[in-house]
Amino acid sequence: MHLKPVIAANWKLNHTPTDAKAFFQRFLAQVPKLNERTLVFFPSAITLTTVMDALRDRPEVWVGVQNVHTEVQGAFTGENSVLMARDVGARVVLVGHSERRHVFGETDAMTTRKMALIAQGRLTPMLCVGETLEEREAGRTAEVVERQLSAGLAELDDVQVGAIMLAYEPVWAIGTGRTATPDDASEIHGVLRRALVSRVGEKAAAGIPILYGGSVNRGNASQLLAAPDVDGLLVGGASLDADSWASIVRA
Ligand code: PGA
Repeated sequence: MHLKPVIAANWKLNHTPTDAKAFFQRFLAQVPKLNERTLVFFPSAITLTTVMDALRDRPEVWVGVQNVHTEVQGAFTGENSVLMARDVGARVVLVGHSERRHVFGETDAMTTRKMALIAQGRLTPMLCVGETLEEREAGRTAEVVERQLSAGLAELDDVQVGAIMLAYEPVWAIGTGRTATPDDASEIHGVLRRALVSRVGEKAAAGIPILYGGSVNRGNASQLLAAPDVDGLLVGGASLDADSWASIVRA
């Protein structure tokens, strides 16, 4: 199956609502309605409603949140929940991003719980997996990403698994300027696709987009996107500037 590519911007802790307004003024002028790809923005929770507002005439563009808590409500100061994300109109939620895992100590058990809550809340989870440099050098890449994938899917039924998005983001490539080669990306995407096939079968697995992320920029975006089994891109740094992001989106 040839999937519609998913091109996603992870703004991380960048762009105030004021910045976002200026971004969309420039960006939307350069990017016409896109039918042949799914475009997603992950702004901070505080900037999200400004982004939704800027995109009100572009309902084909998806907006998502970068994280949700493992509980839907209660005494959890500083957190955001699936219920809140859905209520403001977010459609997708990042889970297990490398910064969540390595800066904030998110465990596999937490990704299991979050994936289940997001699926139950009828939002699309985008599960991120990826190995550290040490794990790669020890030849453990496949084992690590398979473990992270299986934890993420542990509490989902097959229909819910068929509706996820997946992102392979090697930790050593995120924000470092070091990108996986298209061949490296394809190899690991193949590992992930096979794991999905054994979980939900050939047909459902073929419908799950697997994005690559890690130092994607306007120079390498089209090559990565053309690699076998790469169905999209998850982009941090190069998504912050409206001109650079417009050229990646059109790649
Ligand atoms: P980067 O980040 O493009 O800045 O490497 C990607 C990501 O963390 O999703």
